[in-house]
Amino acid sequence: MDILALRPVPAAAVLMAITRRCPLRCRHCSTGSLPASEEHPGEIFQRFAGTFAPGDGPRLVMLTGGEPLLRPRLARSLAETAARGGARTMILSGMFFAPRVPPAAGGVARIPPAIDAAIDAADHFSASLDAFHEEEVPRESVFAVMRALLARGKDLSFHVTGTGPGDPYLRDVTAAIRREFGDRVPMLVGRVGAVGRARTAALAIPSLPSLPAAAGSEAAPGAPAGTASRTAPPAPPAPPAPPAPAGTAGAVTASEAGPPAGTGTAGSALPCAMAAWPAVGFDGTITACCNQDVVDHRPVPGHLRLGHAGTDDWDTVRRRCLESGVLRALRTYGPLWLAGAPPERGYCETCRTLDVPPPAPTPAAAFMERQVRDLQLAGGGTGFARRYGCPPYDHLVSLGHPERDHDF
Ligand code: SF4
Repeated sequence: MDILALRPVPAAAVLMAITRRCPLRCRHCSTGSLPASEEHPGEIFQRFAGTFAPGDGPRLVMLTGGEPLLRPRLARSLAETAARGGARTMILSGMFFAPRVPPAAGGVARIPPAIDAAIDAADHFSASLDAFHEEEVPRESVFAVMRALLARGKDLSFHVTGTGPGDPYLRDVTAAIRREFGDRVPMLVGRVGAVGRARTAALAIPSLPSLPAAAGSEAAPGAPAGTASRTAPPAPPAPPAPPAPAGTAGAVTASEAGPPAGTGTAGSALPCAMAAWPAVGFDGTITACCNQDVVDHRPVPGHLRLGHAGTDDWDTVRRRCLESGVLRALRTYGPLWLAGAPPERGYCETCRTLDVPPPAPTPAAAFMERQVRDLQLAGGGTGFARRYGCPPYDHLVSLGHPERDHDF
């Protein structure tokens, strides 16, 4: 909730994809990661983190990949450097290190020491869990590690991904997490986007063992009633889907860095909250959002490039993020409005090919910018999850939060 509530705040956080490598081969991987994928010297990231100054740095640093815990010493060092600069750190992991054979009842999962130290150095730890990850790392192994971390008071969450509101897997796994962790661990539920390996892979949902529906488990609105088994009858038709999300560089959500839910006509306003947090890509290039196509393709469109971690400092990147007229207009009106384009042209696609002069910085424009930002802030973390995640599950981001709204 706290992290997502910051999502529309420009330069409140920075994402750092510290390696594209990953030992897992999840079929839906948005970054197309492999064990030998690109990886650049850690000094690039370390140098940039070293430019954060207390009171002037980002409030949050999110370490992603690939699999950031393939570089546990770098992750730990970045978390410690960020802390000296006044920032908190979050790590998002695919849990490759979880023991394949979970400990016996009452036992505690062993976490490799260097990875354990990196997790310890971070303020928040989030595990990716979805049907495709479960083909690589058993759910019970992930749960065992999360249990061990929770027992020592670690602040945790899950990033859960499915094919949409009617996906029976989502109903099953969210109920299992709630049951296992007694509603103390929040989860952000997103949708698989057509990006990375998911762009070309046949994403038939893996067949998981039949799991009994949890007693007292919550059936998400829009999810099919009855058994949670993977062999359940097909889900009823989902409500009209918003444009498919376009992937992520391991962002705050597995589905975030894409278009928000919404409809529109030609040139309609649909603000992009993603144009708020700078993203440091695998090679150190800093982009204005973490849309995977933006992060991956070179050259980065001029209006979406904020600099390079090897040469620029945080203050410069932050100023570019805050002051760019095009980025401010993207955050206020979105790309379709800026380009006068119809929705069918594609939200992020329109943005990537945008070629417009920055709108004039009039008092009215500044007023509109504040209004849109404040509307999104008023929606809080749940509002963000509703807009960019999988809406029937948006309330799950508040599990365990001290100000959780119990009147769902
Ligand atoms: S609309 Fe532009 S800034 Fe927003 S996520 Fe898409 S590509 Fe990034």
